[in-house]
Amino acid sequence: MRVRRVAVLGGGPGGLYAARLLKLTDPACEVTVHEQGDPDSTFGFGVGLAAGTQRKLAAADPDSLRDVLAAGRRHDMRMTGSDGSAADVVRVRNDRLIGIARTELLAILQRHAEKAGVALEFGARRSADELDADLVIAADGVSSATRENGPFGGRVTTGRGLYLWAGTEFALPDALFAPVTTEHGVLVTHAYPYSAERSTFLVETDETTWRRAGFAEIDVAPEASDEVSLRYLERAFAEQLGGRRLIGNRTRWLRFRTVTCERWSAGRTVLLGDAAHTAHYSIGSGTKLAMEDAIALVDALRTAPDRASAFAEYERVRRPAVERLQELARRSALWWESFPLRRHLPAAQLMVAYMSRAGNVPLPRFAGTSPDVVRAALRTYAGEPGPADPAAVTEWVLARQRAAFPAEPVHVDLRDPWGPDGDAVLAGVGGRAVRLTGPAERGAVLTRLDLGERLRIETGSLVEVEAPAALRDDLAAGLVSGRCDRVLLSEEEA
Ligand SMILES: Cc1cc2nc3c(=O)[nH]c(=O)nc-3n(C[C@H](O)[C@H](O)[C@H](O)COP(=O)(O)OP(=O)(O)OC[C@H]3O[C@@H](n4cnc5c(N)ncnc54)[C@H](O)[C@@H]3O)c2cc1C
Repeated sequence: MRVRRVAVLGGGPGGLYAARLLKLTDPACEVTVHEQGDPDSTFGFGVGLAAGTQRKLAAADPDSLRDVLAAGRRHDMRMTGSDGSAADVVRVRNDRLIGIARTELLAILQRHAEKAGVALEFGARRSADELDADLVIAADGVSSATRENGPFGGRVTTGRGLYLWAGTEFALPDALFAPVTTEHGVLVTHAYPYSAERSTFLVETDETTWRRAGFAEIDVAPEASDEVSLRYLERAFAEQLGGRRLIGNRTRWLRFRTVTCERWSAGRTVLLGDAAHTAHYSIGSGTKLAMEDAIALVDALRTAPDRASAFAEYERVRRPAVERLQELARRSALWWESFPLRRHLPAAQLMVAYMSRAGNVPLPRFAGTSPDVVRAALRTYAGEPGPADPAAVTEWVLARQRAAFPAEPVHVDLRDPWGPDGDAVLAGVGGRAVRLTGPAERGAVLTRLDLGERLRIETGSLVEVEAPAALRDDLAAGLVSGRCDRVLLSEEEA
């Protein structure tokens, strides 16, 4: 279809990328981006872009990706054992993962949008209804007024934990996942370098620690950063920071908001990126999702006969991918929220637990890319380093599980093992040995494994998890990560 005039609301990565791709596809189309902020001021520090995203961006627009890669910084991942000891550290190499400053990413996308002929208007907050255009792309972010005021069936749920997005004025050598324990509780950082002299330093904690540390009482002006929290965190993470400062950028404690929408378009308006959906930051996918939305929307506009079918096609293509990532992100968020309970795990096992937390990285694949880490984890699991062939790891783990024990069957079918439904199971079980049974479907099995971990940690129960044999990779990862003591394979279909 041909569109004459398109207005893009929001000059974040999603809006700018959609504008550029549209203009490249149809140079005759007038495209204007309306951004309320200035060209060079934005929230946050760096964002991460993984290999798969880079491949998609390369196919859609190699020119802008070249500049993104040149400005980004590659990094590996480092995990310290849950006791925080510097002697217990493992590293995972990741050749393609880069971090890039959000300001730099936006500057590159602005430049490329203008080069393609997009008009950029900064400094005025606009509403989708007032924009003079045949089609409005509402890429106005997680707090999208377009979504909130429109018939999109938007829903926002808020995470239990709290996070704060800070930065450093030096580049960490690797991405770092490190817990620290203060007199108030456990705080965890996810930090990674994104330029030669900067790193993102995100910290998260649970509500109890946050209250005990007095953070709930801190009141900060809207444009200011929470300096009291930053100074506290500098002291808490002094070792990881090498005694250096943390910097803020409108930095304060937040609870993550997960956005879902029943529909992504109405009339001439279509939602894109965070406006339509968010996925917890611990899977580093918000920017990816917004830019991949842009690719799919512009493809659909190019090939569909009219606006309504283009919007329907965009949603048909993107919704399954988005929902899959949102489910991974939901599991990942629960894993991070419960992170302080894993203080007993050594670094290598913790890394396996981290990689398998959302069910996205099968144990044999991880053993193929990081054999040293998996062998170290297997050594703590079974007292020996495990097979050299990654494909043999799963059977090796299953063959070394603990001997059978008498266990009381407990049927569970719940969504959040760390929430009230999980509390009820804990109260009922009270430390007895159990066999967790339930639906054969994979999501339910992953949840049983997570509940098994909670039971083991909080009640000291011995836990056997029953599941279809087809899910043996998940079960082996569960055993190595301490989510259960034994598995019972059934012949049911997963
Ligand atoms: C702590 C944290 C860490 C993150 N880490 C990562 C990461 O590692 N990797 C990753 O990919 N993503 C990460 N993200 C997510 C990422 O920042 C967002 O998902 C991404 O920016 C979404 O892009 P967007 O274009 O949809 O929205 P945004 O980037 O939010 O852009 C929306 C734009 O719209 C503008 N706007 C809003 N309303 C109006 C209006 N009425 N008029 C004019 N302009 C308006 C805003 O000023 C803003 O510039 C993280 C997010 C958080 C909170």
